[in-house]
Amino acid sequence: MVKKISNLREKLQSLVKTYKNAYMQGAVADYIPALAEVNPKMLGVCVATIDGKITGAGDYQQPFSIQSISKIFALVMAMERLGDSLWQRVNMEPSGQPFNSIIQLEWEKGIPRNPVINAGALLVSDVLTSHFCASKLAFLTFLRSLADSDAIKIDNHVYQSELSHGNRNAALAYLMKSFGNIESEIPDLLSHYFTQCSIKMSCQQLAQSLLFLANKGVNPRSNKLICSPKDTHRINAILSTSGMYDQSGEFAFSVGLPAKSGVGGGVVAIVPNYGVICSWSPPLNKFGNSVAGVNLVADIAQELGLSIYH
Ligand code: GLU
Repeated sequence: MVKKISNLREKLQSLVKTYKNAYMQGAVADYIPALAEVNPKMLGVCVATIDGKITGAGDYQQPFSIQSISKIFALVMAMERLGDSLWQRVNMEPSGQPFNSIIQLEWEKGIPRNPVINAGALLVSDVLTSHFCASKLAFLTFLRSLADSDAIKIDNHVYQSELSHGNRNAALAYLMKSFGNIESEIPDLLSHYFTQCSIKMSCQQLAQSLLFLANKGVNPRSNKLICSPKDTHRINAILSTSGMYDQSGEFAFSVGLPAKSGVGGGVVAIVPNYGVICSWSPPLNKFGNSVAGVNLVADIAQELGLSIYH
């Protein structure tokens, strides 16, 4: 049962103050130069609810690189295109390995552990590249319609940086292709994947865009069915077990919400039948999750009694 608090905005503002200096405990992602240039002091949080309320604090309207959070939207599109046959090409188990690990993919014959580690997301990019004639445009259009904003853009500087430092992702894709699990040409699917990672959105836009996952697949703003209730359940299950990289177990243990983070410092958490929390602070912990972002979501979940395991 969600606790009602009348002063959510003040609560979020006070949490943003509390975590103002948490950026010092982490390090901004530096695997690509463009991400290392981000101001580490940025900090924002937004709560969007299915009844249409938006409450934010700090830099919650500032767009940032969504990175791995894009994997959720791509998965929705791939599930819609392939139906259940998708699950013959990618599994739904936690990996227990870093997000960009190659080793497990070799043991498991090119079948990624789940769609939210890099191997799985590259497989999903393959589905989109081979099933849409203009997959990047289709992806951007999907996000723009969910966020109800044509202002959402691809950051070309981040894209170029990803492309020129993408050898590990290329290795994952070629390994899967060697096992016959990739249909498209690798440069095409990498280009799609790096494009989706390079999209910039704010905490507010992300929280609003993901409301369908808190509402049995229906976007409460447009009343449109985005994915079936069964697929909504499946996505939330995968986010609960694998969305926070190799810290997913601890996050479930201490927070108890389906969630996804990205190396741009964003964290989204789905609260079924209530709404979505999105936080952003670029410095990351050793698992690749935002230090302040995780703390913000944890405190809000605790304060409002949002865990799904209650
Ligand atoms: N573009 C990043 C990569 O593929 C995304 C990683 C992430 O946010 O987890 O390496």
